[in-house]
Amino acid sequence: MIYKSLNKKAPDVSFREAAIQGQAPDKGLYYPEYIPKLEEDFLEELPHLSKADIGFKVMKPFVAGTIPDDVLFNIVDETTNFPFPLVPVNNSNIYALELFHGPTLAFKDVGARFMSRCLGYFAKEKSEKITVLVATSGDTGGAVAHGFHNVPGVEVVILYPSGRVSPVQEKQLTTLGGNITALEVSGNFDDCQRMVKDAFMDEELNKKLFLTSANSINVARWLPQQLYYFFAYQQWDKNALPPVVSVPSGNFGNICAGMVAAASGLPIKHFIAACNANDVVPRFLQSGHYKPEQAVATISNAMDVGSPSNFVRVLELFQNDIQELKFALSGYTVSDDTTRETISKVYTQYKYLLDPHGAVGYKALEMYLEQFPERKGIVLETAHPVKFPDSIEEITGKPVEIPGSVAGIMKLEKKSIELDATSDALKSWLLNR
Ligand SMILES: *Cc1c(COP(=O)(O)O)cnc(C)c1O
Repeated sequence: MIYKSLNKKAPDVSFREAAIQGQAPDKGLYYPEYIPKLEEDFLEELPHLSKADIGFKVMKPFVAGTIPDDVLFNIVDETTNFPFPLVPVNNSNIYALELFHGPTLAFKDVGARFMSRCLGYFAKEKSEKITVLVATSGDTGGAVAHGFHNVPGVEVVILYPSGRVSPVQEKQLTTLGGNITALEVSGNFDDCQRMVKDAFMDEELNKKLFLTSANSINVARWLPQQLYYFFAYQQWDKNALPPVVSVPSGNFGNICAGMVAAASGLPIKHFIAACNANDVVPRFLQSGHYKPEQAVATISNAMDVGSPSNFVRVLELFQNDIQELKFALSGYTVSDDTTRETISKVYTQYKYLLDPHGAVGYKALEMYLEQFPERKGIVLETAHPVKFPDSIEEITGKPVEIPGSVAGIMKLEKKSIELDATSDALKSWLLNR
């Protein structure tokens, strides 16, 4: 299996190179040369497979020999060593696949853990230390920090906007120590992202350090997200129609991974791109015009993306055939007001507490099922409500119960380095440590 740049102006690479580089030198996203098909008896065996077995079978063709089988098996085993329960929500046709039982309570844990372990393995073959540079608006930083903590040969530098991440998120970024450094930038997320981009473009920095990114365009973070859809189907009633899956979407990495899983042969009836006010894709599916915009702030902030980078991969999967794509994918826009109403309604009626991202997905699925009442669906619940305690408490009138893992972290001391929001400040910090 080789990986091609979707900008078509860079050499083909192996999984190893794609994972180490992140983005292709022509700024394109790497994409597998073909989508492998599931083994013939895979679906029959699925009920009896462990999560590690599933992960190994699914990821092996994509990793394509760049990691030995026994190492890959350990990697997927560690990556998925927490529960992914499928929970009935409304007593009839909506189920939630809870993806928030990992160490940082959001679905990004799986991608970050898989990627960090792959890079850790690849770093052993390199003499240089790899420096992972990442800007975060909240969830990514924590998942990446936990994923890479104590991985030899890899150092992680996280930039986050001072005062603009939630208290839980900040503790997750700043309390690990070791090979993880948190830079507290006196600016906003866009400043952090610009500083990271400038660092990747800086010749002197790239001569002196081996820099790579850990965002969702990296194939090692993107592709393992397929596993959620296999875990969901493993728990699905085999006598029922295949599920419709609603995915709260921002950068479109998660949903695109699901569509890859379906293309490999996993039975999924239909996909729903559930978006907040940042709804370029739902509007594109309606009008045929693709118009990226500046992101606007919403209460489902991990989905505040105006120009979803992974959507080119979705188009590639359908070879730009928009009719075919519309057959497989619907898009819905859910406002903040409707998101709040949904959290409140589902909590009151069914005693199920959605987080703002899952609520967008739930509402979108509900709208879809009104049109297709004979179908049943799964919403991916992408984060634990405790990550957004203020909005939840406001809506339900009750504080969110804090899980043990978070209670512990809140007592630890924050360690961060304050930095001006300029690219020069980052450069001189990186060079003069
Ligand atoms: C990142 C994130 C999303 C969006 O996922 P994409 O793969 O970027 O579409 C949704 N919900 C939560 C909680 C997230 O952290």
